Amino acid sequence: MLIQRSGQCVCGSVRYVCAGEPERVTICHCLWCQRRTGTAFGAEAVFQEQNVTFSGLAPASYRHTSDESGRWLEIYFCPRCGSNFGFTLQAVPGVRTVPAGTFDDPSFLNARHIKFRHVFTRTRRQWSDLTSEVEVYEPFSPPCRLDRRSRRPCPSLPRRPLGRPSPAPPWTPRRIRRARPHGRRLRRRRGPASPSRRRRPSPLPIRPR
Ligand SMILES: [Zn+2]
Ligand SMILES: [Zn+2]
Repeated sequence: MLIQRSGQCVCGSVRYVCAGEPERVTICHCLWCQRRTGTAFGAEAVFQEQNVTFSGLAPASYRHTSDESGRWLEIYFCPRCGSNFGFTLQAVPGVRTVPAGTFDDPSFLNARHIKFRHVFTRTRRQWSDLTSEVEVYEPFSPPCRLDRRSRRPCPSLPRRPLGRPSPAPPWTPRRIRRARPHGRRLRRRRGPASPSRRRRPSPLPIRPR
């Protein structure tokens, strides 16, 4: 029996079950996907249409005709809360997309096991990936740096964005070396000593008596 994975909309009125693994996950950066999702790209798990079964309220749909190709694409959404349920398209009959974020457990969509592909990256939004130019927070971004009552940094919030390089440490390797007691050399724990660090022969050889 094929593995089954379920999902639903925000309000829970529309539920679905997908049988088997998706053929791929397409991350589409086209302007149409940006508009229909209201964000930077659509992330769609691609299934054969007969492997997706809806229950609860039937999804509402809207048929859009492409200006470019003249062919239709039908988008689906919850009639109550408007959540996105992907689309079917005239160009590829028998295929249905399921938005990656609507699965009950979306963590199975892993690029190590499932083929992912990005398409229409020519219209990709510059801020849509985790570049070093964009601040990254694991939880939501902090509303303020200071707790209003205590005037101290909020302890539950990260002190600095994760996507930025960490600040220089307050100490430097040079200061560590200075802190070593005089006359003691650090022993290298692994591997032979490098030639530059080998003890040089004494300039005054000891004469045998
Ligand atoms: Zn809903
Ligand atoms: Zn698209």
